[in-house]
Amino acid sequence: MNTKVHELLNRQINKEFYSAYLYLDFSNYFKAAGLDGFANWYMIQAQEERDHAMLFYTYLQNESMKVTLEAIDKPDKEFAAHMEVLEAGLEHEKYVTSLINEIYGAAYEDRDFRTMQFLDWFVKEQGEEETNANDLITKMELFGGDARGLYLLNQELAARVYSAPSLVL
Ligand code: MG
Repeated sequence: MNTKVHELLNRQINKEFYSAYLYLDFSNYFKAAGLDGFANWYMIQAQEERDHAMLFYTYLQNESMKVTLEAIDKPDKEFAAHMEVLEAGLEHEKYVTSLINEIYGAAYEDRDFRTMQFLDWFVKEQGEEETNANDLITKMELFGGDARGLYLLNQELAARVYSAPSLVL
């Protein structure tokens, strides 16, 4: 494997674990605010991010490439409103999309078709992540403005259940 592709794939392990950490922080924010449904939604999001990290980890191991685990950054954002959390989530997913695209670009340049095929799942996944984050903002805009709407939205988000990623390595 090309050094650049290797480096970026290894970095992505850390970025996905950071994503999990960030969403745990979001979950913690909503738990403290008494919104268990939102807390559940982000808790499941965190579990998915951990799965993503493990997919990059396993892919490198399967390719007999060295895995180096780095320190995970501290989530350090302060939020003044619930909506700010949701918006930070969307911004973060757009950032992750840019990271996946960067790896894909490096793999493409090196004609590393196996890595490109591995990344295809993540390209699609990022589309879904951005859609989910956008939908949540839209719902919050529509229904989050009054206590009754927020209560119902919180109930809806409480129903989200974890499912393992469809990609198996
Ligand atoms: Mg992810």
